[in-house]
Amino acid sequence: MPEFRLVQRPEFSPTSCLLCGDHVGPFVDTFFDLEGYGHLYICAANEHRSGCITQMAELTGMAPAREKQDLYDELNSLEGEVAELEEQVAAFVKLKELREFLMMHPTENGEVKAEVEA
Ligand SMILES: [Zn+2]
Repeated sequence: MPEFRLVQRPEFSPTSCLLCGDHVGPFVDTFFDLEGYGHLYICAANEHRSGCITQMAELTGMAPAREKQDLYDELNSLEGEVAELEEQVAAFVKLKELREFLMMHPTENGEVKAEVEA
């Protein structure tokens, strides 16, 4: 299994993507040389294109690195929201328990001492 490498500028001819022919980096350097063609590079995403390697990754169910980072950021944000909601649920449960306790223990004149909203 070859080790691939991400390069901004191809060092060997032809200095373009094997699949689409684009000459603008970055590229994945496959370290393969094809007789009669030259060195095999496959383009990666840049600000002007999604890149052949990205399209292949998406077809096989992989998320692009940028999208993956966005998903991690969203996950972290949602985990924070979940933690806050868990605290609110715990407070609600405690409040409900206190209300039930107060309902079961009325004052001497039979009234509930405090109104607790649940
Ligand atoms: Zn390409």
